[in-house]
Amino acid sequence: MNPTTNILEQMSSYGHERVAFHQDPATGLKAIIAVHSTVLGNALGGTRRWCYANESEALFDVLRLSEGMTYKAAAADLQMGGAKSIILMPKPGHQPTEAEARAMGRFVDTMAGKYIAAEDVGVSPQYCDWMAMETKHVMGGNTVSHGGDPSPFTAQGCFNSMKACLAFVGKKVDFSNLTVGIQGVGATGYRLAKLLRQAGAAVLVTDVHVPTVKRAVEELGCMALGNDKNLFAEKVDIIAPCALGGILDAKTIENLKCQIVCGTANNQLLVPDTDGALLKKRGILYSPDFVANAGGLIRLAGLYLGFTEAQLDKKVEQIEQTTLAVFEESKSQVSTSAAAIAYAKRKIAAGPVKKPAMAGSR
Ligand code: NAD
Repeated sequence: MNPTTNILEQMSSYGHERVAFHQDPATGLKAIIAVHSTVLGNALGGTRRWCYANESEALFDVLRLSEGMTYKAAAADLQMGGAKSIILMPKPGHQPTEAEARAMGRFVDTMAGKYIAAEDVGVSPQYCDWMAMETKHVMGGNTVSHGGDPSPFTAQGCFNSMKACLAFVGKKVDFSNLTVGIQGVGATGYRLAKLLRQAGAAVLVTDVHVPTVKRAVEELGCMALGNDKNLFAEKVDIIAPCALGGILDAKTIENLKCQIVCGTANNQLLVPDTDGALLKKRGILYSPDFVANAGGLIRLAGLYLGFTEAQLDKKVEQIEQTTLAVFEESKSQVSTSAAAIAYAKRKIAAGPVKKPAMAGSR
């Protein structure tokens, strides 16, 4: 299928409800909003600001990411659908502006609440607040909208998922004798490294941005991997991909020497069907990305839905049980990722939880 054409055909194949394109001549904004599903409710998903090689790559990214959001929300038992938006930067390093963000906010507003924007790669809480000056359908800011940076909750959820991984492979849930390799020590990776160091693990880190590695080494006592080495071929207990998607392909999986893969990055498997099966065949336990990294969505979607702080903490804690439930199901499935998708699809098929009828209502 030619990715630049047959857009409706692609929507049918992924199951999208709506894909909207927008360009704003005054600010140069070029953006796409993809609403994959609103079966369980309105859909919250981050806005990614990225310089794509071409429009096909951008469309592919937003279609795949928004589909993942549907499964992420459903698996986390949130009454939320799945959506995502992207802003196509004209060149690398193109600076975000209030005018651009407000133009994006007006675009988000046209979805009338079916889509709720938030931060993703390249979009900060400040950017969310700028978008929120034009629409109430934004989470993740600190002043105009609320929720703030979700990454601490994403990291905590991933750490909880790692506990389930250890239990499932029959290890003691104790990090003190373990070495964890983290690719990318940015917002989520750094916080995950901190939780692991506090739990007594040795942490080996890599990041393309040298000062980021330095910070993890100096502030957390992590070990830096030499530039000539490949983290995915290192002998460690757990690998946590916390940078990019598509990093687990057939070649990388063949070289893995770890027992567990559990990280915060979205879309870690390059080809989900075959790469998930290959991991299982090699006896490497993979915590499906949308299960392990749901903490940030739980935080922002939960606040949007009116959860209390105690309910939010409980839900992030439950990522451990959800991971275990998916692993149990994966015993009869080709892979843990296939099991996670089946688990989420079952929740979607069951439909939204019915609210109890009010007394006296007809
Ligand atoms: P971030 O940009 O703060 O951190 C990513 C880090 O990875 C950066 O320090 C970057 O320099 C580094 N990096 C990029 N390419 C690399 C490479 N090839 N090798 C090593 N390091 C590399 O992003 P983040 O918020 O931590 O998100 C990381 C991943 O987690 C993304 O895939 C994101 O979509 C996903 N995610 C984040 C959240 C959240 O709450 N922030 C929630 C769910 C999923």
